[in-house]
Amino acid sequence: GSHCDDSMVSSVKIPTIQFTKLFINGEFVDSISGKTFETIDPRTGDAIARIAEGDKEDIDLAVKAARGAFDHGPWPRFPGSERARIMMKFADLIDQNVEELAALDTIDAGKLFSMGKAVDIPQVAATLRYYAGAADKIHGDVLKMSREFHAYTLREPIGVVGHIIPWNYPSTLLFMKISPALAAGCTMVVKPAEQTPLSALYYAHLAKLAGIPNGVLNVVTGFGPTAGAAISTHMDVDAVSFTGSPEVGRKVMKAAAESNLKVVSLELGGKSPLIIFDDADIDVAAQLALTGILFNKGEICVASSRVYVQEGIYDEVVKKLVEKAKAWVVGDPFDPEVQQGPQVDKKQFERILSYIEHGKREGATLLTGGKPLGGKGYYIEPTIFTDFKEEMLIAKDEIFGPVMALAKFKKIEEAIERANKSRYGLAAGIVTKDLNVANTVSRSIHAGSIWINCYFAFDNDCPFGGYKMSGFGSDFGLDALYKYLHVKSVVTPIYNTPW
Ligand code: ADP
Repeated sequence: GSHCDDSMVSSVKIPTIQFTKLFINGEFVDSISGKTFETIDPRTGDAIARIAEGDKEDIDLAVKAARGAFDHGPWPRFPGSERARIMMKFADLIDQNVEELAALDTIDAGKLFSMGKAVDIPQVAATLRYYAGAADKIHGDVLKMSREFHAYTLREPIGVVGHIIPWNYPSTLLFMKISPALAAGCTMVVKPAEQTPLSALYYAHLAKLAGIPNGVLNVVTGFGPTAGAAISTHMDVDAVSFTGSPEVGRKVMKAAAESNLKVVSLELGGKSPLIIFDDADIDVAAQLALTGILFNKGEICVASSRVYVQEGIYDEVVKKLVEKAKAWVVGDPFDPEVQQGPQVDKKQFERILSYIEHGKREGATLLTGGKPLGGKGYYIEPTIFTDFKEEMLIAKDEIFGPVMALAKFKKIEEAIERANKSRYGLAAGIVTKDLNVANTVSRSIHAGSIWINCYFAFDNDCPFGGYKMSGFGSDFGLDALYKYLHVKSVVTPIYNTPW
């Protein structure tokens, strides 16, 4: 199933990189230090472009611009319908540039071009429209106090928001964060991942064309410990929304606590279980399990990285999984036949291979895969381990690669107990035709998203977030809008002042 060799870099035209500078207060500018960094094409390991490297001083400028736009600019003061109109225009501009945006994420992150074009980028426009639809429906409640007072709540934008974004879904995760914040009337500073800065800068350009006022949306490219940390430690950033690793999430929360106690929300990955019961359709179950781990080359926080199969169909599911894994096509992500592109960078590639070595040493059985593919670029074979225990590193850590851990179980209680034996709690899948089993497992699993007889069923309207060390605070849904709004109680006596 491999399309991988040195000559497999496809001939699809790579877009010219137009935007490589920081976007601050509506202008593309060099970093104050003048420094730049390379962004790499994971298909080859070659540099694509040099991007401005923002640091603390650049974040300061961006926060100043966002603060000015919040305190004095029109964005938070517009009627919601006006923010909605501009957001709709932004969405239309994205629709008009789908191919180029998809291509940028493909060369930067190794993501499938066909998927970007058909799903990811159109979905980003849909996310903007979903929250645009909410922008003029933000209101409080009239309260019933126990005395003769008139009381109501106001929902006010939280202020200047910092969004720190990872590299696995450069477009989806950016809009998952900026869309509700824009609808709420916030202003913001975005720090894209250093591996994937290209599309965020292009979106900044489109935001300006759409009429988003200067200073509302600022994009500062650069590294985590410098530009990223400057957001989380900043005294004038009111909230920070972070998606990434638990290690960095902890740093962000600590920095927030030690600076101005800014509001924090964290989405920190997972080790999501998929539980397949004896009554499942074997072909469907195997397909869900395999896609659940190999989709986006396993670089997806909700990947079904632990699969539990009931003993009655275990052998058949294993057989199907191996067949399907061998037929899975790895290669250039511009090739429409390809199902899995390269891992995002060399560091990630080496990290995944080292987890595979751990798995072997820890005593899990390597069923298929386990090796790199192709002469250059960061390709890895679809890999399946069986006989894993929850204590093993390959079952505890989020590998973020095409590596599945598979185990057999007898009873539903055992499946629930093992599924919950994780410090993470982001998502879980259940495959069964038995409604009682589905209901019981859904309520017993400690995770923020449960998919029954499906997987990756995301929607703008479905809140998404973690339990346990997968973090807290929702993305998507109206819950995410409220994350960017303060609630204020206003109280006044009805008849006369009672004191
Ligand atoms: P990964 O390990 O998958 O690259 P990270 O959690 O390291 O994920 O990165 C997610 C985002 O957090 C990136 O934009 C990265 O630059 C940023 N980041 C990394 N370190 C820090 C830090 N100390 N403070 C703030 N942001 C950081």
